[in-house]
Amino acid sequence: MGTATEQRIVDLYKFAVIGRGLIGSAAARHLAEAVDGVVAVGPDEPKDRATHNSVFASHYDEGRMTRHVDPMREWSIAAGASLSRYRDIEARSGVSFYTPSGYLGLGYPGSTYNARCAETGTAHGAKFTCVGTQDIRAQFPFLNVPAGVDGLVETGGAGHISPRRMVEAQTRLAEQAGATFRRQAARALRPTLQGVEIELWGGELIQAERALIAAGAFTAACGLSPVDLGLTVYGRTTVLPRIAGDAATALATMPTMIDTLIGAYILPPIRYPDGHCYLKLGVGTVSDPKFFELDGLRAWFQSPGSEDNRTEFTTRMKELFPVLRGCTHWHTDTCAVTQTRSGLPILDFVHDNRVAVAVGGCGKGAKGADEWGRIAAGLLRGADWSSDVAQEKLARSR
Ligand SMILES: Cc1cc2nc3c(=O)[nH]c(=O)nc-3n(C[C@H](O)[C@H](O)[C@H](O)COP(=O)(O)OP(=O)(O)OC[C@H]3O[C@@H](n4cnc5c(N)ncnc54)[C@H](O)[C@@H]3O)c2cc1C
Repeated sequence: MGTATEQRIVDLYKFAVIGRGLIGSAAARHLAEAVDGVVAVGPDEPKDRATHNSVFASHYDEGRMTRHVDPMREWSIAAGASLSRYRDIEARSGVSFYTPSGYLGLGYPGSTYNARCAETGTAHGAKFTCVGTQDIRAQFPFLNVPAGVDGLVETGGAGHISPRRMVEAQTRLAEQAGATFRRQAARALRPTLQGVEIELWGGELIQAERALIAAGAFTAACGLSPVDLGLTVYGRTTVLPRIAGDAATALATMPTMIDTLIGAYILPPIRYPDGHCYLKLGVGTVSDPKFFELDGLRAWFQSPGSEDNRTEFTTRMKELFPVLRGCTHWHTDTCAVTQTRSGLPILDFVHDNRVAVAVGGCGKGAKGADEWGRIAAGLLRGADWSSDVAQEKLARSR
């Protein structure tokens, strides 16, 4: 009988993508559609969250906002490029994930958010209008907004995507293009003379000439990057009232929303795997809990989240959408956001030209994930930079 080491299977690939979330699955697809020898490493969503003892992800949900307007031009560029490919990805994969339900930004006196969004929206050809309180009340009669509130309404593509189904679509296309899948987490990544060696959670080893780390909020906690990327991972809580009856009728045409009064993003009623429709509200603040260790981050995903957030968000929702006062089923969910120092994702090499990262969704990485994945795939295989987002903007600080 051989030793444990001899019994390990060693497979050799050209390109390994570690992490099969929104950015990693996109990168794997773009790579596999361009070159051979791609392996995508990472687990599927756990069947039972409570007993799961490996990694989690920030895409285990049905609703992520997507739109062209954003206060930062780079996010606007990436979202626009991705939006233009959603329908093609859906058609070729046979998995639908995109609902262009529109977007409404609510601005309160003193807020510059809508003005900054309008600036990037104009620069990138977004289809939007700026409206006053009366127009908001006329167009969105289910909202309770005080005088003085202004609105930015984006049509022409804004709406929401199912992050879960988008990952499925990208996965199917990567598989069709010949990528191999290793459906378990990576425990370690080690540069070798020939490339990189990746140790899987179960102990097996695989080798690749180059690797891309796209493990989202778990990148630092799993110790995958050989250099410190300066990431901060925040635990986020969302509140979801179940929508049926009068509320479903009233909210039938609700767009995705940003409510600048409390900095909330709000998704319209969306159907979840339990068969019910839920509206969702979340807010991100720097007072949210921070996680640097695997155990703490995993425990956060297994918890109901912040009780203070639950109370505050519920109160705000009932104020803004009076029809929700009649809803009787409310629950919370937890997720994690990976913040970078620059406020943009990091798409850069971290070990000569063999190991790169594509991390740092900053709470808004879903909408442009296909483009971040495309750029990262090009970087890894040594293609010329082909984005209007300057390469140095996505570089790690050295
Ligand atoms: C509550 C909430 C609401 C959000 N709303 C929006 C929104 O409306 N619009 C928007 O654009 N963005 C939104 N985001 C952000 C968006 O979901 C993230 O930016 C996006 O998921 C980041 O993609 P990612 O691929 O970096 O990470 P993830 O999607 O989390 O994927 C990371 C992958 O890595 C895998 N992984 C982890 N560790 C390992 C390991 N050791 N080995 C192998 N694989 C590993 C995980 O299993 C996972 O599949 C929201 C985030 C949260 C938390």
